[in-house]
Amino acid sequence: MILFDRVSFRYKEKQEASFAIEEVSFSLCQKKIHGFIGGNGSGKTTVARLIAGLLKPVSGKVEVCGIDTSAEDALIHRKVGIIFQNPDNQIVGTTVEEDIAFGLENLGVETDMMPGKMDRVVSELGIGDLMKMPVHHLSGGQKQMLCIASVLVMEPEWIIFDEPTSHLDPWARREFYRTVRKIVETRNTGVIMISQISDDFELFDEIRIFSEGKVAFNGSSAELKKQKDLRHLYKIPEKWLFDEFRQVVE
Ligand code: ADP
Repeated sequence: MILFDRVSFRYKEKQEASFAIEEVSFSLCQKKIHGFIGGNGSGKTTVARLIAGLLKPVSGKVEVCGIDTSAEDALIHRKVGIIFQNPDNQIVGTTVEEDIAFGLENLGVETDMMPGKMDRVVSELGIGDLMKMPVHHLSGGQKQMLCIASVLVMEPEWIIFDEPTSHLDPWARREFYRTVRKIVETRNTGVIMISQISDDFELFDEIRIFSEGKVAFNGSSAELKKQKDLRHLYKIPEKWLFDEFRQVVE
């Protein structure tokens, strides 16, 4: 569970400026895909960084799995993994195998425990035939799978994806969502997707729209479809437009 209790945050270098997020409260349950959507500068990334403990609230409280992020850095880093938009910024090993092992070594996992943890992730993501491959030979979709593997092997309770599908073709995108859904269903993991891609909306279990540092909407995609007055805040999926058109002509 992630809990935001009247959380505000302002970037230090912008002391005179308004809050990046202000008095934001919500709770997120594990085993779901949560979508964070909203325009540039609406506060999505700030909220994600607060969850990961990379930022601390100016006021209010952020709790991840019952732990106050202001108090416990090392524990929060174990509980929350972030996957950034550009996989190249995240990959540190020279081969796939090395990259996946790297995080475990950093966590101080004993050497004889490593193969078991790695095998589970490799079979879950179906990347067994990539293990010996140099990372610079991987496709965009494969690099992203590697980033997921390297985070998943550390068994976080939450994974945050920052605009994960913006570089993927439609096939890689489908594969990506299939994988994420499997993770959510088979592990006790919650997923947060920061996305600007409207086609992703229907794949989220819960959606939060951010606007000017506040949560402007919280609900399912079916509920969001009915909220026509919020449409200035997000780009509607084309399919929804067709649905509406069909209703008019039928
Ligand atoms: P989003 O992820 O929705 O694009 P952000 O959380 O990045 O929004 O930004 C929220 C607000 O905080 C914006 O006004 C942005 O200019 C400001 N902001 C974000 N990062 C920084 C930073 N590192 N330093 C100063 N201001 C920032």
